Amino acid sequence: MVLSGPRTGACHAIDDTTTTLPCGEAVPVLGQGTWKMGEDGRRRTDEANALKLGLDLGMTLIDTAEMYASGGAEEVVAEAIAGRRDEVFLVSKVLPSNASRAGVKRACENSLRHLATDRIDLYLLHWPGSVPLTETVEAFEALKAAGKIRHWGVSNFDTGEMEELVRLPAGGNVQTNQVLYNLSQRGVEFDLAPWSRQRGMPLMAYSPVDQGVLARNARLDAIAARHGATPAQIALAWVMAQDGVIAIPKASRPEHIRQNVAALDIELTSEDFAEIDRAFPPPRRKSGLAMI
Ligand code: NAP
Repeated sequence: MVLSGPRTGACHAIDDTTTTLPCGEAVPVLGQGTWKMGEDGRRRTDEANALKLGLDLGMTLIDTAEMYASGGAEEVVAEAIAGRRDEVFLVSKVLPSNASRAGVKRACENSLRHLATDRIDLYLLHWPGSVPLTETVEAFEALKAAGKIRHWGVSNFDTGEMEELVRLPAGGNVQTNQVLYNLSQRGVEFDLAPWSRQRGMPLMAYSPVDQGVLARNARLDAIAARHGATPAQIALAWVMAQDGVIAIPKASRPEHIRQNVAALDIELTSEDFAEIDRAFPPPRRKSGLAMI
């Protein structure tokens, strides 16, 4: 199965700027990543200000993880969302090494403390590990019942792993799978994206501008020129044009934040999609899930 192209509404998009989780809650298709934030104390204020600017411009979904700067990125997020928690859809992740029943609870408490909040909106298992999934799912459900998290999901799960997950008791409560997805890494289109779409479950695309590499890709220059945009904006607009996909670019420079928000207004044409497919061909066979 290969599916790609403009939004068809299979994930019940309310408009072009939101998509819907399986539970029915609408979430923005454009959020903000935070990997590499919080690593250098001298940059913390600038990083928090970048996230605040993103919030001001409507990028209200913020993605972070206990792994990023060992809680430092969560602390930057805390600074950015102080006094405006209710505006934000907060995503964080637990490491597979903490995915046991007791480990998840402890990790979540630590994240809540770093984030200076009482709840995480969407809590993800960062990648598959050795703790039995049933145990992690039970721990997620217990956190939900306690009001510490509102939803849970996974990250870096391939199709077989998703199939195994949804067969578990309460496994069907998974709300998203966060995976590497950008023009240079289209492998998920072969079967994982169609599988997710069929369940009405959005994929969350990480590294949507390939960690900045696509910003310098000359194969996007002509399309960018047609739209009066930058190659990075075209790469991002393309990810957001995929049905049921949420993009979470990380940007710490204000001009990048503004450009990423403006990418929401870029409407790629069928000519653009065809040109992109020639330059960045969709997958023709199954390959292992790429990860960073
Ligand atoms: P990314 O968002 O594709 O790229 C970030 C880089 O691109 C930064 O260097 C940024 O520069 C630059 N950039 C952003 N917007 C730009 C624009 N409009 N024009 C030119 N350059 C631009 O890569 P990522 O940080 O790896 O992925 C995004 C987020 O996904 C992460 O921050 C993290 O939250 C999440 N993630 C999750 C996983 C996982 O395993 N679940 C793995 C990787 C990432 P500046 O910062 O200088 O503005």
